[in-house]
Amino acid sequence: MNNYKKETICIQGGYQPENGEPRVLPIYQSTTYKYDSADHLGKLFDLQAPGHMYTRISNPTVDAVEKKIADLEGGVGALCLSSGQAANLFSILNIAKSGDNFLSISSIYGGTVNLFAVTMEKMGIEVRFIRPGATDAEIDALFDERTRAVFGETVANPALDILDIRRFADLAHKHGVPLIVDNTFPTPILCRPFEFGADIVTHSTTKYMDGHAQVVGGVIVDSGKFDWEKGGKYPELSQPDESYHGVVYTKDFGEAAYITKARVQLLRDIGAAPSPISAYLLNLGLETLHLRMERHCENALRVAEFLEKHEKVSWVNYPMLPGNSQYEMAQKYLPNGVCGVISFGVAGGREAAVRFMDSLKLAAIVVHVADARTCVLHPASTTHRQLTDQQLVDAGIGSDLIRMSVGIENADDIIADIAQALERA
Ligand SMILES: *Cc1c(COP(=O)(O)O)cnc(C)c1O
Repeated sequence: MNNYKKETICIQGGYQPENGEPRVLPIYQSTTYKYDSADHLGKLFDLQAPGHMYTRISNPTVDAVEKKIADLEGGVGALCLSSGQAANLFSILNIAKSGDNFLSISSIYGGTVNLFAVTMEKMGIEVRFIRPGATDAEIDALFDERTRAVFGETVANPALDILDIRRFADLAHKHGVPLIVDNTFPTPILCRPFEFGADIVTHSTTKYMDGHAQVVGGVIVDSGKFDWEKGGKYPELSQPDESYHGVVYTKDFGEAAYITKARVQLLRDIGAAPSPISAYLLNLGLETLHLRMERHCENALRVAEFLEKHEKVSWVNYPMLPGNSQYEMAQKYLPNGVCGVISFGVAGGREAAVRFMDSLKLAAIVVHVADARTCVLHPASTTHRQLTDQQLVDAGIGSDLIRMSVGIENADDIIADIAQALERA
C-alpha cells in the first residue's frame, strides 16, 4: 500500500482481503496458532520462517495495524505496544544498556521525563537533557563514546515547541547515533519525521491515532535507514543473539534489524503487548485520522484566533498563530497544521481560570488530550496542584494556564461555550 497517498492508507492500509474473506479487519482473539509439524514450529522459534507463534510476540490483527502505521510514516516496519510509555521505553532500551547514555530535549511530555530521569536512571541508562536554546557546540559536548541516541518530540506536549528535526538528525548522525522522534501530536498526517532525517518514530496511539479516548496504546516505527553496523556501537544488533541460536539482526533482517529485535527480544521478554481487540479499535480510529486531523487543526486555529482577540485572555500559545515563537518552525515542518492543542492564560490568574473551567458546558474537564471531544485541563489546580506559584512558573506552567484540546465538534459551538465561560470568569 505504500505507493498510495496517506488518506488511502488510512482507510485501506494493512489489510487487503482475498476473494471471499471478511471486508473488515477481523479480530483474531487467539493467544496461540496451530501448526502441522513440530519442525515448522521449531523454525519459527529460530526465526527461520515467518509466522505467528504466540500473541505476546505477534498477532494477525495487530500485524495489520502495524503495517498500516508503518506505511503512513513511510517506514519499513512497526511494533505496536500496550502504551506510549512502553513505546518510548522500548525505543531506547532496544539500543542502550546499563552504562550507556542518551540525549533528550528537555521540554517533553511529563510522563516521558519521569521514565527517562527516574526509572531508566535506576536501570543504569543515563539521560542527558538538552536545554532549550542550546547551541550546536553545547549539544556536541553532551555526547561521549557511550551515547546511543537522541530523543525529541515533533510537537512537545504541552509546551508546543516544534523540534528542528533536520538539525537534531544532523547532530545525532555526526556522532553516529539515531534520532528518535515522538510524533504523537502531529501524527503522520501532519508530519513524517523520516522525511527530515529522523531514524525511529514513536507514538502514544492513545491520542489522535485512536482519537476516541477508547484504548491506551503505543507504537514504534523503523525507517530502516540507520546503519547499525558502522562504528560498532550496537553489537546487540550486529553480533549474534545467543537467545536465538546466533541470529544476527543486521545480517538476517537487513533494514528491519531494529524493529525485528524490538519484537522478538524485548517484547518477548518484557511482554508489553497490545490485545487484538485494542488493535482493532485503534484501526477504526486510524480509518478517519486524516479527516479528523484536518478538522482538529481548523477548529484549533479558529479557537486560537478567537482567544487572541478576547480581553479576558492574557496570552495564547498556538504555533499556527503568526507572531508565535514557533511559527517559522511550524511552517517548515507542519505547514498544514500542528495539532488541536492550545494553551492560554485567563486574565485574573488561578481563581479566574478555575471559574472559567467550572463554567464550561460543552468542553469537559479530563486528564487527556487529543480526542474527538473538546476538553480542558488546568494544571495548576490538578496535575501540578502540589507546586507553589513560583514552582509553577519555573516549570513553565503559570497558575493561569489552561490547556485546551480542541475537538471536532462545530467550531461555532466550541467558541460560544468558551465565550460564555470567559464572561463568568
Ligand atoms: C500521552 C503521551 C505519551 C504517553 O503515552 P501513553 O499512551 O499515555 O502511555 C508519550 N508521549 C506523548 C507526547 C504523549 O502525549
